[in-house]
Amino acid sequence: NFTAALLHVIILPYPARGHSIPLLHFAKHLHSLGVTVTYDQSNRNRSKSSGRSIRVVQLGVPPVQTKAVKNLPYVREVDTLVEATEEMMEKLFAENQAAPPACLVSDMILGWTQPVANKFNIPRWVLFASPCRNLATFLHIPELVIQGHLPLIDPSKDNFLVHDIPGVPPTRIIDLPSPIMDHTHYEYDFYLRNSAQMHEATGVLINTFYELEPHSIDVLRKTDHLLYILPVGPMLPPIYFMSSTAAAVSNGGATQNKNNDHPCLQWMEKQPPASVVFVSFGSVAALSIPQLHDLAMGLQESGQRFLLVVRRPAAAAASSGETMTEEDKDQLTRRVLEPLLPPEFTAHTEGRGFVQQDWAPQLSVLCHPAIGGFLTHCGWNSTLESICRGVPMLAWPIQAEQHMNCRFLVDDVKAAIEVQQSSDRRVTKAEVARAVKSLMTEDTGRVIRENVEKLRDLALKAVAKGGSSDKKVEEWICRHCNK
Ligand code: UDP
Repeated sequence: NFTAALLHVIILPYPARGHSIPLLHFAKHLHSLGVTVTYDQSNRNRSKSSGRSIRVVQLGVPPVQTKAVKNLPYVREVDTLVEATEEMMEKLFAENQAAPPACLVSDMILGWTQPVANKFNIPRWVLFASPCRNLATFLHIPELVIQGHLPLIDPSKDNFLVHDIPGVPPTRIIDLPSPIMDHTHYEYDFYLRNSAQMHEATGVLINTFYELEPHSIDVLRKTDHLLYILPVGPMLPPIYFMSSTAAAVSNGGATQNKNNDHPCLQWMEKQPPASVVFVSFGSVAALSIPQLHDLAMGLQESGQRFLLVVRRPAAAAASSGETMTEEDKDQLTRRVLEPLLPPEFTAHTEGRGFVQQDWAPQLSVLCHPAIGGFLTHCGWNSTLESICRGVPMLAWPIQAEQHMNCRFLVDDVKAAIEVQQSSDRRVTKAEVARAVKSLMTEDTGRVIRENVEKLRDLALKAVAKGGSSDKKVEEWICRHCNK
């Protein structure tokens, strides 16, 4: 593709897995179409993953969470990052005459890249790794502040519904990410500024597909004339859409076990088709130990087969303070070596349960014929990964925009059954058992499965040649090439 070869795109991801994985897939996709890609790999853990022919730079963007733990607000780093990015851009402009950078694609929370793009007089595109429904809400944040809905000052208004976000059903303020609700939160200003800077961008590439949320996309396009809204997802490796068995699939570069010899996949080999519930809360959130115990007991009580990923809450203390109370953290420090799961749990669930510490090859698990359901925290990547394999979900959101995603999955597209949480966001073991049984054995679960299978077919069409997302990517490339 000759014209694509003349296009040079700089891609700046945010270094957290949930953000960088889809951007990396997008970078690889562009590269496969002949586009020249410069990709920032600030997260050193993933430095092997971008493929030799994508040019890799390291700007040193720190993850917000690490800084929060050290009480160093991320915002203070921004000046340094702007400087590093400008230096890199100057070098790129100086040395690559055949295809100078034509545009900057940066993560939804890297609003500080907007002035950099302005300085070099190239368009900035936001890569939004969440549904369009959330984009509409994030763009509306300055308005919610003007209207007095944010920050949330009166907790008795927790359930207050906002009705006038374009293309979005009435939304509970409490379902928004917590930093936006609390003006004392160190990320509050950061979020506000990001939202304003998103309005200044040329457009937004969204990791969604038109057929999944046509209403939100149509309405946002009509109401926000200044932003190009391009649904170009799901951003996943092409093999993920093709393979019908537990194929080796690449998850953000870390190629998953080629021979399917990961212990959890070997265990899945022995399970009947569509019988296993995969239980995972993504790359950041981790449950407190008491909550984890209730989850485990609930799985035991459900009588269903399961593959449970458990991560020590230490990870949560480091990366998701929102999920743990101070008491939880104290307990954690005192009882680091305490078993994560209830005594006798393994014995009672032997043969029908598998516990995976820390990290599972999620894409391969979701591709496996034994998969029957996914109890998920509603992270957007996990959601799309589940939809693309037609796997029905149980929705148990924890933090960030996951509560909004849960509403989308449960109310809008009916791809998940909600796991009911109490007002302090705890889930009982009886509720876990109820939800799992309902997904795996009841009519409600069957209907959800049928819905997700329909969505899967639409997703596959969207990314196939000539599909809605494929066309948008092409349109976007041509737009820059024709300049
Ligand atoms: N993931 C994985 N194994 C795990 C946990 C997560 O491969 O044990 C991957 C998952 O496939 C997804 C990403 O990590 O691509 C998590 O992103 P998501 O948006 O679902 O949640 P987040 O981690 O951002 O909360």
